Amino acid sequence: MSQEKKVVVVGAGWAGLGATYHLAKQGYDVTLLEASPYPGGLVAGWKTDDGKSIEAGVHGFWYPYKNIFQLVEELGLNPFTNWTRSSQYSPAGLEVESPIFQDEPFLPTPLGTFLYTNFKRLPLSDRLSALPLLYSLLDFDNSDDAWQRYDKVTARELFKQFGVSSRLYKDAFEPMLLVGLFAPGEQCSAAATLGMLYYFILAHQPNFDVVWCRGTVGEMIFKPWVKKIESLGGKVLTNKRVDEIIINNQGVAQGVICDQEIFAADAVILGVSISGIKKIVKNSQVLNQYPEFYNLSNLGAIDVLATRLWFDRKVNIPLPSNACFGFDKTTGWTFFDLNNLHDEYRDLEGTVIEADFYHANQLLTMNNEQIIKKVHQDITTCIPELANARIVDSRVTKISQGVTHFAPGSYQYLLPANSPIDNLYLSGDWVITRHGSWSQEKAYVTGLEAANLVIKQFGGNAATIIPVEQDEPHIQIGRVINQNFRKIINDFVPKFWLP
Ligand SMILES: Cc1cc2nc3c(=O)[nH]c(=O)nc-3n(C[C@H](O)[C@H](O)[C@H](O)COP(=O)(O)OP(=O)(O)OC[C@H]3O[C@@H](n4cnc5c(N)ncnc54)[C@H](O)[C@@H]3O)c2cc1C
Repeated sequence: MSQEKKVVVVGAGWAGLGATYHLAKQGYDVTLLEASPYPGGLVAGWKTDDGKSIEAGVHGFWYPYKNIFQLVEELGLNPFTNWTRSSQYSPAGLEVESPIFQDEPFLPTPLGTFLYTNFKRLPLSDRLSALPLLYSLLDFDNSDDAWQRYDKVTARELFKQFGVSSRLYKDAFEPMLLVGLFAPGEQCSAAATLGMLYYFILAHQPNFDVVWCRGTVGEMIFKPWVKKIESLGGKVLTNKRVDEIIINNQGVAQGVICDQEIFAADAVILGVSISGIKKIVKNSQVLNQYPEFYNLSNLGAIDVLATRLWFDRKVNIPLPSNACFGFDKTTGWTFFDLNNLHDEYRDLEGTVIEADFYHANQLLTMNNEQIIKKVHQDITTCIPELANARIVDSRVTKISQGVTHFAPGSYQYLLPANSPIDNLYLSGDWVITRHGSWSQEKAYVTGLEAANLVIKQFGGNAATIIPVEQDEPHIQIGRVINQNFRKIINDFVPKFWLP
């Protein structure tokens, strides 16, 4: 049955490729249309004219990315480094060093994170001020109800309400938000903040452990993955920007239009970013009649900047991955020692560093020369030895409105995989899922979820999606007590006050 059915997937990021791969495995006639010249979306990599590898930011794969790890194993790939340690810098110097948490004796969460993270300057009294916040982590269970309650509050307000010290907020929580949700606390939804912090840091002791690709993700994962999809009969077409979804009078999607070329389909999966779907809706004669779609205009995206610098000499960078805060008011950044992470640069005479900036609005207005000068200055604050190193080559990639902005109040406009059009499905890291994952893993999972909806409609075996690891027993008990308590309050207290 599935073999007769045509599916068009739009967008070749983790979401679109995930959906395409599973449907190709199930014998669907699936075509993936990607606007840019390379598959991979935000994680795409490419080579410069002189053969140097570039990507739109270095991407980490955290311990709970079980679905991606399982995919890589299924494809027979071996793209990752070992687990790495990381550190955090401010203009004052080294602030934090994190161990490999799974190598430390196991402690019930959040004790391991609290005890094994090595804060160089942050006083114990500030760290202890995070304790009351644990209640909100228990209370936020990723349900629709929890998102409704917390989404309209800003992260800053949440931390303030729970008595987090000013210094802990500035030196620990806001830096995490800038690299995790790409925005400062006053611009992040408290719901997204709690979901992200729990998933990446607090759910289980090893969750903050991370691996990196030993080259670009494009080269090491997407290239062989696309080959595999093609060997299964799937088509992956690049330089194909979809302008319109064809929807008949009965409200059924019949295909897409791509530069006047029609791709007919029995089902369509969109795997595009927020900016991508907003553009499609704006130009569409049909989608812009549905409130769910025209309301997407209320969602936003964030500017990011990726730079890669080649220095003339080898400089010792203590740890391969580093996050930085306090250099610009509302911008966070990370830098990576690519000699350590990427096979290609391991034996190079010089140093290769990637520095990526999040919430980089003001930096995108600078020219490349100004940007590289600033990066050199900032990075020298962290690694003073780089002051004497000369930059022999550099690349700047500006990604305007690239990443999802989980702004306060945005949840009401986000959409689930099921759209108001029966055979049009949505996927991507901004799409609502109850899985509990974030970023690349979430994008991939939503792709599989969208593929499963197609399978539910037309037949085949659903993709197995590995759930996030269960809460630890004490967290489970805490959640049950809290949920019962909430239920009693909801039953007896009138819904008069703001939630
Ligand atoms: C600098 C940076 C660093 C990051 N670091 C990490 C990290 O360390 N770990 C992590 O897990 N995540 C990280 N992320 C986030 C991660 O990249 C995203 O969560 C993930 O890649 C989103 O995948 P996606 O498939 O949802 O969307 P995207 O990757 O945005 O893919 C959407 C695709 O749709 C295509 N498209 C758009 N419109 C159309 C159209 N009309 N027709 C056809 N195609 C279209 C786009 O070209 C794009 O290829 C980072 C992001 C950035 C930018």
